[in-house]
Amino acid sequence: MEVSVVIPIYNERDNIRLLYQELVSVMDSTGKPYELVFVDDGSTDGSTEILEQLAGSDHRVRLLVLTRNFGQSAALQAGIDHARGELLVFLDGDLQNDPADIPGMLALLEEGYDLVHGWRRQRHDRWLTRRMPSWLANRLIGWMTGHVVHDLGCALKVMRRWVAQQLELYGDMHRFIAILAQQRGARLVEVETHHRARQFGRSKYGLSRTAGVLLDLGTVCFLRRYMAYPMRFFGWWALASWTVAAVSLVAVMVMKWGSSVDMTGNPLLLLSVLAVLLGVQFFSLGLLGEVASRIYYRSHVVRNYTLRPTRGEERAGGQGEDQPGRQAA
Ligand code: UDP
Ligand code: MG
Repeated sequence: MEVSVVIPIYNERDNIRLLYQELVSVMDSTGKPYELVFVDDGSTDGSTEILEQLAGSDHRVRLLVLTRNFGQSAALQAGIDHARGELLVFLDGDLQNDPADIPGMLALLEEGYDLVHGWRRQRHDRWLTRRMPSWLANRLIGWMTGHVVHDLGCALKVMRRWVAQQLELYGDMHRFIAILAQQRGARLVEVETHHRARQFGRSKYGLSRTAGVLLDLGTVCFLRRYMAYPMRFFGWWALASWTVAAVSLVAVMVMKWGSSVDMTGNPLLLLSVLAVLLGVQFFSLGLLGEVASRIYYRSHVVRNYTLRPTRGEERAGGQGEDQPGRQAA
């Protein structure tokens, strides 16, 4: 298997067949062996049945059905875990990305890049609620992380298998794929891709989701620098707090014995106490962080999604052996 196309589907009933046809004709034209991995992320609009029909009639279609809506990141992660291709293509299931861009992107991988990232220069979404906030977010993320990417939100991407396996998508981390990959040393190139307005179904995201991206950005920045050294982050804050405590305690003493300022009425005494306690808290967080990162680096058992066994697996009496996803985190 050379190429796996991973498509998350959440209530995209009217888009699936059209997308399937477009994908098949484009992928056939590349001449590479491929599979289409559809991940049904808890659809309730009949998408699952349509996908089951496709999977039943075309052996290149593989279907993963999540037991409920786990979100786009978890759906992509499930796709990554089960994809068999050496190269992975991600694209949305709503026909907004154009499969015709895929062959050119695959060709760029052959030039030595690890991740080819789409850039929807002519994006067909609302300006106020989607394009403007995402422009701001892209600038801010570029500035904070040092990895400047024009359109992090573009779902259409092509990458090598190892890149996908390093991503660890959960929460809404799929928005940071380009950043996470570069943090792992992937060579990235951006290409302009064709973007179309949504014809069928509704967008699953609005302005409120964008606000969450800001908080996630803090997580991404922290994890990049301190995942392996949490004490170096919290420890410095602890030392800073204790320094403040020491200085202000000395000031209290000097004021008491030098100019007879009453100690109990001196707010600096309160500051000293507060700073000592803060320091203890920061230090403890650092220790807990060290313990957490040890656990993290040792175990990779729990997945962030749950798969519904397919019919065949149910008959065989259990989940397939190639399925690591059994529990929700
Ligand atoms: N999606 C998903 N799970 C979710 C939300 C979205 O699998 O919880 C899928 C959705 O079906 C689509 C893709 O992720 O294929 C992108 O979603 P959408 O088009 O709503 O996002 P937008 O293009 O508006 O940013
Ligand atoms: Mg869309």
